[in-house]
Amino acid sequence: MTSACAVRVRGVVQGVGFRPFVYRLARANTLAGWVLNAGEGVEIHLEGAEERVNAFLRALETEAPRAAAITAIDVEARAPTGLHDFTIRESLRRDRLTARISPDLAVCDCCIAELFDPADPRFAYPYINCTDCGPRYSIVLGLPYDRPNTTMRAWAMDALCAGEYHEPSSRRFHAQPVACPACGPRYKLTIAPGAAREGRMAADDVNSGRAANFEAIAHAAALLSDGMILAVKGLGGYHLACDAANADAVLTLRERKFRKEKPFALMVSDLENARRLADLSLDAESLLTSPARPIVLAPARVTLPGVAPDNGDLGVMLPYAPLHHLLFAADAPEVLVMTSANRSSEPIAYEDDDAFERLAGMADAFLVGERPIARRVEDSVARSGPLGPVILRRSRGYAPGAVAAIPVERPILALGADLKNAITLVVDGQAFVSQHIGDLDDYAALRAFRETIDDLLSMYDVPRDELLVAHDAHPQYYSTLYAVGLEAAQRRQVQHHRAHVASVLAERGAWDAKVLGISLDGTGYGDDGTIWGGELFVGSVRGGFERVAHLRQAVLVGGDAAARHPAQAAAGFLAQVDDLPDLAEAPFGFPRRFADSLRMLRRAVRAFRTTSMGRLFDTAAALTGFIRPVTFEGQAAIWLEQQARTAPAADCYPFPFADGELDFRPLLDRVAWDRTRRREAGEIARAFHRGVARGLADAAEALCSAHELDTVVVSGGVFQNQLLLKDFASLMGAETLKLWTNHTVPPNDGGISLGQAALAALEA
Ligand SMILES: [Zn+2]
Ligand SMILES: [Zn+2]
Repeated sequence: MTSACAVRVRGVVQGVGFRPFVYRLARANTLAGWVLNAGEGVEIHLEGAEERVNAFLRALETEAPRAAAITAIDVEARAPTGLHDFTIRESLRRDRLTARISPDLAVCDCCIAELFDPADPRFAYPYINCTDCGPRYSIVLGLPYDRPNTTMRAWAMDALCAGEYHEPSSRRFHAQPVACPACGPRYKLTIAPGAAREGRMAADDVNSGRAANFEAIAHAAALLSDGMILAVKGLGGYHLACDAANADAVLTLRERKFRKEKPFALMVSDLENARRLADLSLDAESLLTSPARPIVLAPARVTLPGVAPDNGDLGVMLPYAPLHHLLFAADAPEVLVMTSANRSSEPIAYEDDDAFERLAGMADAFLVGERPIARRVEDSVARSGPLGPVILRRSRGYAPGAVAAIPVERPILALGADLKNAITLVVDGQAFVSQHIGDLDDYAALRAFRETIDDLLSMYDVPRDELLVAHDAHPQYYSTLYAVGLEAAQRRQVQHHRAHVASVLAERGAWDAKVLGISLDGTGYGDDGTIWGGELFVGSVRGGFERVAHLRQAVLVGGDAAARHPAQAAAGFLAQVDDLPDLAEAPFGFPRRFADSLRMLRRAVRAFRTTSMGRLFDTAAALTGFIRPVTFEGQAAIWLEQQARTAPAADCYPFPFADGELDFRPLLDRVAWDRTRRREAGEIARAFHRGVARGLADAAEALCSAHELDTVVVSGGVFQNQLLLKDFASLMGAETLKLWTNHTVPPNDGGISLGQAALAALEA
C-alpha cells in the first residue's frame, strides 16, 4: 500500500551534504518524491510503501552526515500524488531565513584519500572539498548557501567540477566551494623582501605551472625546516608558523609578535604525533579529531623551549585544511607552532592586503591562497575537564552554530562583555553565537564587533528596529555604549554574573529550574556599582536571580591595573589580614608597588570595592611567588594552578562561610605563614585550591539546604581552573546535589552573551 508524507527537518542541515544524503536514502528505499532546502531547514516529500517510509525516517536520524545537527523532524501524512521518481529541487527563498549556516569543517577522509592519490584530478590540490567537509561560514557572503553567495563566486567551474556538482550521486553534489587545479583558486608563495635565502628557488619559480600549488607548499615546508617564520593563510585567517622544536625560531616569533609568555598552539600531522606531545584522555582525543578540530589543551609530555613557558599544558591541534596535510606531506617540521597572525592582542589577520601590511617584519614569507576569507574565524580552544568537555574559545568549527533554543518570538541581539567578546543573535527562537571577537578595548576588535553584528543581522534578515538588545550593566563598556547608540525597539541590561549562570541554564533549556548559581571571575559590574566577581545567587532564568552570598569585600587598588600586577591586587586583600610577615623581605620579595598600593588604599585614592575571586587568586599567587606583572589575562591564576597540580592532595586552608560571606582572611593568613615556614610552593597552592573548594562547598550545602535546592550551577572565568572544579565537585556532596557547568559556550566571558539573551528573553 502506498503512503505519502511531508517531512520537515530542522537544525544544521544546509551545506552539510544533507540533500544528497536524503536523495540516496530515498533511492535506496525505492521511494518517490523530492527534497529541497527551505528557509527553515530541509523539506522532504515521500511516496512509497509504508515500511519503506518508516525505514527511511529511522535512517534519516541515525545515518545523517557527520556535520549535520538535527534539532527536529516533523512528519505529516499526505495524500499520494502518484510520483515515480525522487528529485532534488531548487532552493526556495523565503522571507525569513533561519536555515543555519554551517560552521567550517575539517577536510574529510575521502577527500584526503583523493588528495594523496596521484591519479586523482585533485591530487595535491589545497582547495579540495566535498559536501561532507570544507569551508562554510568563512566563505558565506549571504543566504541561501549557494555558490554565488560565497567567496568562490569569482571562479567558474570547469566540466569536471560542474559534472560532480550537478550529479546527485556524487559526493560533490551541490558542494558550493567545489574546485580543482584547472578551474579553482591556487596557493602562492611570496618571500618577504630581504628574507630570501640563497641557494633556494626564487619564489617566482614555484608559483607557475600546473604543479604550482604543491611546489609553493613544498617550498614553504622547506623554509619552515630552515627555521623561518611563515604567514600561512588558512580557513578563517592567517597563522604564523614555525618549527616548534627550533628554540631560536620560537624565540624570534615571540619577539616579532610582542608575545612574551602566552602559550603558542601547536599542529602535528596526526593523532599518533599528538599523543607523543601530550597526555590525551579519550575525551581529549575525540575533541581533537572532531570535525571542528579545535586546539585541545592537555598535559605536556615533552618540553619545547619557549612554546608554553611555565605551563604544564600544551595546546595541540590536528590539520584541518587540505593545505595543512600537504605541508606535513612535504616534510614540514614534525611539530609546528601555528599561532594567530597578529601582534599581541589584535584580532587575527584574514584579508591579504591587511596581512601583508600588518605582518610585515613578522613573517619571512607568505603562503597565500587566492580564495578570499569572508570573515575572520580564529581557531577554537577546548579541553576535557573533570565534568566533561569545556570550550574555552568558541570559534572555527563551532561558530555560528545554534547553541540553544530559547522560547521567544522576537529577535534578540545580546552583545556580551568587553573581554573575550562574542555576540548572540536569537532568531525564531534559535540562539546563534558568533565566533570569538576579542577584547573590545582594541580598536580592530571593536571594528570586528560592529562588523559581526552587521554581518549576522543582514545574514538572517533581522530588522534593527524589531530587536531587543541585551547588554552588560557596566555603563562604560564599549558594548554598552554601542547598545545605547543602536536604534533598537528595546534595550535590556543584564548583570554580568547572572548572565554567566544563565548561560549554563540556557545550554540545557532549563528555564524554570531553581538553582544555586555560583559565578566566579575577575571583574563585572555589580548591582551596587562595585566590582563583583565572587557571587552566589538563588533563582531561575524566568524568576530572576537574587544575590544571596559573596566573597568578603576587598579593595581593588588602582582599578584595572590591579589585574596586571598581582602584588597590587594583593594589597587590596592583605590590608585586611592582621599580623602578616614582612612581605618586602624574603621569601616574598614583594615589589615597591605593594607598599605604594597600601598607601593609596589608606588614602582611598583610586580604591574600588570588590568581591573579585580572580583577584583573590592573584593575591594567593603573589604570596606563593608570582610577583612580576602578568603578560596575559589570568596568567597568575594559571601559574598557581600549575604549581598546585604538581603537589599531592593535602590539607585545606580555612575559607569559612558565614552570614552570606566567604571570608578570605584566614585563607591568606595561612598561605603567608606557611610560605614563611618555607613550605613548598606547590603544597601551598594545593592547600589554597582545596580550601577555596571546601569553602564554596560549605556555602553550597548551606544555601541549598536553606533554599531547598538540589542543583548547583557554576560558571565564570575562575571555573576554567580544572583543579578547583574537580575539588569542588568532589567536596560539594555530589550524591545529593547536581552540579551543572558550561559545555557548549565558554565559562569565561565568551559565554556571557548567551546568558544575556536568555535573561532578556525570559526573565519576568
Ligand atoms: Zn570531503
Ligand atoms: Zn574544476
